[in-house]
Parts: sequence; structure tokens; C-alpha cells
Amino acid sequence: MVNQNAVIVGGGVCGLVSSLLLKKRGYNVVLIEQAERIGGLFCSIKDSKGAAYDMGSHIPNATGIEELDQILFGHVDDKSQWNTIDKLESGNYFSGSWDLTSPFPNAQKLEPAVYSQGCGELINLTHQPSEQFIYDHSINSLGVVFTHSIVVPILQKLYGKLTDIRGLTMEAGLFGFTRILALPADVAAQLKELPAFDSKLGYQTEQDFLARKERDKLSDVKYFYPNNGEGIGHWVQELLAHVEKAGVEVITSERVKKIVRSGTQITHIELASDRVLSSDLLFWSAPPFIALNALGIEPQRGQMELRTAVIFHLNFDKPLTNQKSHYLWVWDSSTDIFRLTLYPNLDKSVSHHHLSAEILCSPDEVSSYLLEDVVAQLKAMCVIDEDAQVISSQTQVINNTFPVPTKEFKDVNLHNFELLDKSVDNLIVSGRYSGKCWRQADVLIDAYNSIKEL
Ligand SMILES: Cc1cc2nc3c(=O)[nH]c(=O)nc-3n(C[C@H](O)[C@H](O)[C@H](O)COP(=O)(O)OP(=O)(O)OC[C@H]3O[C@@H](n4cnc5c(N)ncnc54)[C@H](O)[C@@H]3O)c2cc1C
Repeated sequence: MVNQNAVIVGGGVCGLVSSLLLKKRGYNVVLIEQAERIGGLFCSIKDSKGAAYDMGSHIPNATGIEELDQILFGHVDDKSQWNTIDKLESGNYFSGSWDLTSPFPNAQKLEPAVYSQGCGELINLTHQPSEQFIYDHSINSLGVVFTHSIVVPILQKLYGKLTDIRGLTMEAGLFGFTRILALPADVAAQLKELPAFDSKLGYQTEQDFLARKERDKLSDVKYFYPNNGEGIGHWVQELLAHVEKAGVEVITSERVKKIVRSGTQITHIELASDRVLSSDLLFWSAPPFIALNALGIEPQRGQMELRTAVIFHLNFDKPLTNQKSHYLWVWDSSTDIFRLTLYPNLDKSVSHHHLSAEILCSPDEVSSYLLEDVVAQLKAMCVIDEDAQVISSQTQVINNTFPVPTKEFKDVNLHNFELLDKSVDNLIVSGRYSGKCWRQADVLIDAYNSIKEL
């Protein structure tokens, strides 16, 4: 067991979990968070009627790494307080109707002539593409017709109509829409035996998916959600209590002013409050350019565009029409919303009829999204009854939170990451800002692996 000092910067889920991993390895740990509260993107807010909403759609899942999952969900022992979800129910709205069995857009809903032409192309594309740009990938796996009638409109909805779609890297497809439904169930199931088709087609029926899962012994991913009307913020509060009980010093509303080093070894961290922390290891889950600045190293700057998330949290006077799905994708370009979270289906203890509708936009577009328009879109999609009324609400704007993944973005991130890596030895850069990964589970697995290598 080491008896050294570790400083963690960033109190999101990555910093929190890493503080426990380092504490278990014998470090004295101090965690620095610039905001007033801990949790980063995982947080819940309540409206005037007490309905709890999450920032974005955050339904955390187990990682498959025992030590990590024990930290994440080991305290989730009171089953009356927690909903353990073996299968996350999803679905999607595309071409004017819902499909509540699959998250993937169904090409069979396109105009018959477009569909036939698209299928002809798709069937003939038998090589698995290995492109770095999502547009090229889609053209070479789905074909021109399906790319332009399905994928491009979704990319424009997420990343903006003015974005150069051809310059987006594969990370732009992280929500999975480059896989589509296009063929009768038996044909799709057979074609999916071939890797090139497996990567572009979804299973048409749930039974086919389950049969494949069984055959390939794919492990189940478990999801967790508090069953007590408190939203996912409750999970973060429990994690924080765990972190503090373990002896981690948690400091909020604080920033790093300077990182002091001797050669390639960081020795001290100077905080904005002038407190000085001795540091044998610095774990950085904040943006890397801030670490470079604090080290006195000029970061590379580039055209890095970030999308802003506008989230309408709405509570209605009538039950939501869908009493099954946990979250839904809205791929149809007739609406601004791209994702819905249906809380009564996640937390059975609540008596509210509430949901979150997420929109991604550029910062100057925020004011153009109005609550009444979002409600009208929900009615048009039959998510709520025509005569349902909003009885309480909250609108949340998360500025510059969602990167537009371009090659330049990737290169600048990589450059700054490598610059940090070669400048100092006792530093781990992890978390979503590192640019290495983005999803909660991937971020935590990356942090875990970095700490394991120490
Ligand atoms: C709209 C949206 C929806 C998402 N939906 C999903 C989803 O459905 N599934 C999924 O798996 N993932 C999802 N994610 C991604 C998921 O939220 C992230 O993987 C996860 O939250 C990353 O945790 P983190 O700790 O790296 O970052 P964050 O949660 O962003 O935490 C970083 C922390 O660092 C702090 N910080 C920043 N700068 C400094 C500084 N200079 N000094 C001190 N502290 C600093 C911040 O205040 C913040 O608290 C979503 C993300 C967004 C934006």
C-alpha cells in the first residue's frame, strides 16, 4: 500500500469513482470541484410540484468490472429504494410513427420507391467499411439513398444544419443510428451472420436479438435507477457519502491555479484559494487545456465546436401514453427533440407524469426553443394526450456540453493529451473531457484501467 498524496480534479462521476479507487490503493486523496455541487453531468433537479428530473438522460449501467461495479452499485442494496433494470426499454420515432421495439430507424417506413432503391444498394455493399468519417462510412455500408434519407437528416438534427456533415468523424454516430432496420425479420437475421451486415442492420424482432445474445453468451448489462422519486442525483449523493466516509477530502467551489513540477514530476498543486496541496499523483478529469495552462504550457487551440443541450423537463396532469419505455429516440426531422426520458417507467414509486425532452443546438439558438412548441411536438407524436396540460416544468440549458466530433476536434484533443502525457509523468488524464471516450461506463473503465496501471 502506498502512502502518497493524490489530487483529483473534477468531481463528476469519473473523479468520484477514481477517488475511491485511489483511496483503496492507499493514497491520501483530495478531490477538487469547481462547481458548488458534486456530480458533474449526473444531477437531478425538482420542479415546483416536487417532480425530479435528470440532467440529460442518465441511467447508469454496470461496467462488468467487479471492483468498479461494487463501488458504483454495491450500496444499492435496499431493493425497495432501487430499480434494477435488466433490459432498458427503448424505441424510436421515425418517419411519422413510433417503433417501441427497437432504437434503430426503420427504412421500410420510407416512400416505397426510395425504400426499394435503398435496399438494392444496401444488399450490394458487402464489405465492412473502416472509414474515419461517418458520412463515408454510411455511404459505404448503407448506400447513398439510405444515407441521405436517414443518416444525414439525423446528423443535421444533432449537429446543426450548417455543420459540414462530411467532416464528422465516426464518434458522431455514438447514439447508434448508423445501424438501421431495412429487411424482413428472417432475411435480416440471416444476413446478420455476416460481419458487414451485422454492423449495419439491427434485428427486426426482439426474439432474434435474444436468440443471438443467448447463442453468443453476451453478458447482460444491468441498469440502475433510484425508486424513491429523487432521480439519479440520489445515486450521486450516495456515492459522495461513500467517498467522504472513505476519508477523501472533497473541496467544492475551488479551482487549480498552478501545477508546480520539478522536471517531469508534479510536486504541488496551488489552488485559487492559495491553499497548496502536495501531489504525488494528479488525476485530471477536467478539460486538458486547463491542466496545460496551469503547467505554463501553451495548449493547441482549434475550431472546437460544442453543442448546447436544452432540456425541457415537463410534468403533466395526465399519465404519459407510453407506460413501457424508459427512454426514446426521436429520429424524425419534423421535431427538434432528439431524446425523451419517461420517468414514471424508470421509477415506479412516483405519482407524477413527467418526462425530459432533450434538444441539441448552437448557443445562439437556445431562445428559439419554446415550451409550447415542445408540448405541441409531444402531442403530435402522441406521447401525451391532446388535452394534457403542463402543470409544472423546468427548462435546463447546459452550455457547450456536447462536442461536434470533427477530425480537428480529435486532433487538437489528442495533441493536448500527448503534450500533457510527455510533459509530466505522475498525471492521469481521464473522463469525458479527455476525448478518449464519452459514455459513462466507457469513461469509468478507462479511469479504472489507468489507475490499475499505476
Ligand atoms: C446531454 C448529455 C447526455 C448524456 N447521456 C448519456 C447517456 O445516456 N449514457 C451515457 O453512458 N452517457 C451519457 N452522457 C455522457 C456522460 O454524462 C459522461 O460520460 C459522464 O458524465 C462523464 O463523467 P465525467 O466525470 O468525465 O464528466 P462530468 O460529469 O462532465 O464531470 C466533470 C466535472 O469536472 C468539473 N470541472 C471542470 N473543469 C474543472 C476545473 N478546472 N477544476 C475543477 N473541476 C472542474 C465539472 O464542473 C464537472 O463537475 C451524456 C452527456 C451529455 C452531455
